[in-house]
Formats: sequence, structure tokens, C-alpha cells
Amino acid sequence: MPKSPVEVINALNAFEPYSSGLSIDEIREKYGLDRVVKLASNENPLGLSPLAEEAMRRECSLAFRYVQSGTPRLVRAVAEACRVPEQTVVLGNGSDEVIDLLIRARCKSGVDNIVVNNPCFSIYCSQAKFCGVETRRVPLKPDFSFDWGALLRAVDGNTSLVFVTTPDNPTGYCPPVTEVEAFARALPGGVLLVVDEAYMAFAEDVAPYSLLPRRHEFPNVAFIRTFSKLHGLAGARLGYGIMPEPLAQKICGARLPFSVNCLVEAGALAALQDVDFVRASLDTVREGREYLTTLLCGLGCTVPDSLANFIMFRLPESATVTAPELFERLLRRGLIIRPLKSYGLSEWLRVSIGSHDENRLFIKLLQEELEL
Ligand SMILES: *Cc1c(COP(=O)(O)O)cnc(C)c1O
Repeated sequence: MPKSPVEVINALNAFEPYSSGLSIDEIREKYGLDRVVKLASNENPLGLSPLAEEAMRRECSLAFRYVQSGTPRLVRAVAEACRVPEQTVVLGNGSDEVIDLLIRARCKSGVDNIVVNNPCFSIYCSQAKFCGVETRRVPLKPDFSFDWGALLRAVDGNTSLVFVTTPDNPTGYCPPVTEVEAFARALPGGVLLVVDEAYMAFAEDVAPYSLLPRRHEFPNVAFIRTFSKLHGLAGARLGYGIMPEPLAQKICGARLPFSVNCLVEAGALAALQDVDFVRASLDTVREGREYLTTLLCGLGCTVPDSLANFIMFRLPESATVTAPELFERLLRRGLIIRPLKSYGLSEWLRVSIGSHDENRLFIKLLQEELEL
């Protein structure tokens, strides 16, 4: 019996809360600024699809009703968009929820473990910890590529999930699909490989990087995708997993019935139709990525190639400020980027690709702070 009515399971003690990008309101208030630009959370620089916004507005008057359990219309639309069977789709309140469901559905507390890259998206580790599941962290190679051999060696008889992020966050690195494929084939029978493709849509061409089009060859692979980035619905919360049918069906049968709300259902159905918005978002991100990479390199920064809607950079050796100092200075001037200390990369910063004006502002402020 617990000793007190407010005692929690051991896993919840000494929990580090999710360290998210700072919010615009927070910074506006703290520094008394009129305008704050946020390039910290990889949000869509164009906002959200106008069709999705209109659809959500219309749906508002129905917000008093429960959605149809499991939102089958949206499941069908996502399945169609991804060209996969409906029975393989698991929707979630953000892909965060899908990650959480996968861990809870697959891992036995105190017995099983998961294997991840270090650094990686922190939700894999935090939800494993919540569930009393050990996380085995495998360092990236010095050039931020994946150490597949070490990942494989970290897998043991109690490993139930391996998470990889392609393109990776926060580095932007994306392994060729041949490597992912070879790794999936090399994994022992009981392990599910979860490939988080939150940023895959931003790659110039998906075929050289994504295993999803050939998922039927890989009964041990699940994929994660999201409406948060390309479709601009981060605050409305919708992500999805595409996974082997028996697993998807077991999860769908047991999960909470209403975690995808009626507003985001309407918004996402419209967003999937909004090809103009998707096109414009991709163009903005790809152009901005090239622009920022070129200008940052021109300023002497180190910028690994990124296939995502953000880039990571390190200041030149000659810089008179450190990465955390630069972050603070930009903050005071109303520009939020992401320091990477929580990823164990304290010399590095991450900036989301913004609109052209936002990108130019970032470069201008950076130049001024570096006194170049
Ligand atoms: C942004 C992101 C997601 C998406 O999270 P949502 O819960 O869908 O908003 C998933 N994985 C990674 C690695 C991300 O960076």
C-alpha cells in the first residue's frame, strides 16, 4: 500500500519536464517587446492552411458534440493520402501521443528497454521513463550520422522498440533509405523499429530517404508522421502512426476514444486538400533553408546539411560570444531560436526556417551580434 495519498510511482520522481521552445507571449512580457519572432519550434512560417482554418471555424458550432469514436473519416483520409490500408493508421493528439501509445503498448515496465540515438527527440525517453522502461542511448557519430552498428549492439533480448528520427532533430541529418532498410533487416525478430518521419515531407525528394512506400516488405517497422509541421496544425494537435495492422488494431481497440478533437479533424481533412498551401510551405522552407545555410556559412558558421524545416549551426571559432550568450542576446531583441544544451550540444543552436522576412531579420541580428 502507498504511504500517502499523494505518493506517485517511483518513475515520476526526479522527472525533468519537457523543455520546449519559449513562447512569444513569455518573451514579449519579459522584455517589454512589441514584436517577437519565433524560430524555435519548427512551426510552419506561413501559419496554417486557409482551408483548414475555415473548416475549423465552421466546425466550432459542433464542438458540443463528441466526435465519432476513432474519427474514422480522418483515418480514411490519412490512409488514402499515405496510400496505406486504413487498418494500419493510428491517429493521436500530436504524434507525441502515438509515441506514448507505442511505448505503453509494447514495453513491459521494469523489464523491457528502448534504444535511441543520443541526442534525440526527448519525448521517446520521457514517455519510456514514465512507463518504467529503460532507455539505452547510443551516441551519434561525430558528423551526426547514425552509428547503426552501435544501435544494433545496444539491442538485447529485452529491447522492444528502437526509435530513429529521419530527418533527425535537432541535426537535420537524414540517412539514406538503404541504411534504414539494412538496419530493419538486421534487427532481431522481437524488435519494432519506429521511424519518426515528422520532417520527411521537407526532403527534396522522399524516395531516397523513406521506407514508407515499401512498408509492406517490413513487418517490423512503424512510421510516425504529423500535421504539426507541414500543415501548420501544431497547436491543434494531430499526428499519426502507420504500423503493422495487428499492432495498430490492438492499440486502436484500447486507446482513449476522443483524443483527436472535432476541430482538428475538420482542419486536417481540409488541410489534406489544400495542395496550394502545401506547395507554398515546401517552397518557402526549401528556399529559406538554402538562403540561411548560404548566409550562415558566409558568416563563418558551421552548418551541417539539413533536410528538415530547421538548421543547426555552430558559431565561428573567432566569435566573441558563446552559443548560449548569442541565444540570450537575440531573445532580448525579440528573436527566439533554440539553444541545444538540453540535447547535450551546448555549442550549437537550432533555427527554424521562417518566412523570407524572418530569415533576413535573423541574419541581420546575428551579423550585428557577431559584429561582422
Ligand atoms: C515536432 C516533432 C514531432 C511532432 O510532434 P507532434 O506531437 O505531432 O506535434 C515528432 N517527432 C519529432 C522528432 C519532432 O521534432
